[in-house]
Amino acid sequence: MTNPSLLILPGDGIGPEVMAQVTRIIDWFGAKRGLKFDVTEDLVGGAAYDVHGVPLSDATMAKAQEVDAVLLGAVGGPKYDSLDFSVKPERGLLRLRKEMDLYANLRPAQCFDALADFSSLKRDVVAGLDIMIVRELTSGIYFGEPRGIFEEGNERVGINTQRYTESEIERVARSAFELARRRGNKVCSMEKANVMESGILWREVVQKVHDEEYADVELTHMYADAGGMQLCRWPKQFDVIVTDNLFGDLLSDVAAMLTGSLGMLPSASLGAPMANGRPKALYEPVHGSAPDIAGQGKANPIACILSFAMALRYSFDQGDEATRLEKAVEQVLADGVRTADLMQAEGDTPASTAEMGDAILAALDASL
Ligand code: NAD
Repeated sequence: MTNPSLLILPGDGIGPEVMAQVTRIIDWFGAKRGLKFDVTEDLVGGAAYDVHGVPLSDATMAKAQEVDAVLLGAVGGPKYDSLDFSVKPERGLLRLRKEMDLYANLRPAQCFDALADFSSLKRDVVAGLDIMIVRELTSGIYFGEPRGIFEEGNERVGINTQRYTESEIERVARSAFELARRRGNKVCSMEKANVMESGILWREVVQKVHDEEYADVELTHMYADAGGMQLCRWPKQFDVIVTDNLFGDLLSDVAAMLTGSLGMLPSASLGAPMANGRPKALYEPVHGSAPDIAGQGKANPIACILSFAMALRYSFDQGDEATRLEKAVEQVLADGVRTADLMQAEGDTPASTAEMGDAILAALDASL
């Protein structure tokens, strides 16, 4: 039997630093759990632009289509800010998402007990929090036409278009309902049906998918701005939140702050099943390339490590091993190991990126 295949794209800034820790963990699963992967590594973002003049080469794109899962670090950085829009590092990521047709972006926001006091919200508001934001990822305002900056009279106008078809809403709604059935059985759909036609259609279609296929799941609707407030007021009222590309981008960053640090948040982007039954899949931390701390060994690798845990669960049917890895992370945090982004008291010495990797590997060893 051939090993499952994994394409690793470390990218820019802290991407390669956090991915180095994930690579150690992948090696650990191969050596200690007999879980071997065929791993290939390639370039994306600014790193790809430097070599190929584009943020994702056609050859890398073809590899991404062939493998069982892609694991990405982060892209972007000030060095590339003045590049033409068409070759900006982020375009590499958008191309991957679009061509792999990864329409459902899963962003869990889970509050580890050891970090509950670290959140900007009160402990009882966040302790034990476990919610999943499902963001539509391949359509909406980031892709809609017309778009551009045009001359209009004697000034310029910037245009982006929010556009959703019924089938695009249906398939992401199904992803959310399926997930809810394996969790708390509740979905809250968020849009702006009060002011946007695309929001009216979104609400109608989610309700129809619910009534026809998932009547056993509890469904509520909320305006996305109110949803932002509710996420800060009492986030535990939610189980699965399903929303569009733009609102999902914003709301998942709000959710990030509930759990304490952007450095803790993993994500999965899933598409339609491939011939082998596995969904097309890209796993990546929610955070960016953090140029302010890049190259200093300060980055928290946990978001990227937990993204690999999601890959174990959703692409490789290794739920127990995913739980083993998540529990190792939980243990390390309970033991007080902290990277700089998780420090509360001045004067404490933070763990470096590699030291956090060391601690998680030691906790994995202890789990055997
Ligand atoms: P960012 O997520 O890179 O950083 C925001 C803040 O969080 C920074 O202070 C950073 O130091 C901190 N941070 C982020 N990840 C961390 C980690 N793992 N450990 C410790 N601290 C962490 O967002 P930004 O500063 O708005 O963007 C920087 C660059 O990243 C830009 O070029 C942006 O376009 C790009 N970006 C890429 C992605 C992606 O690759 N998916 C996502 C967001 C931003």
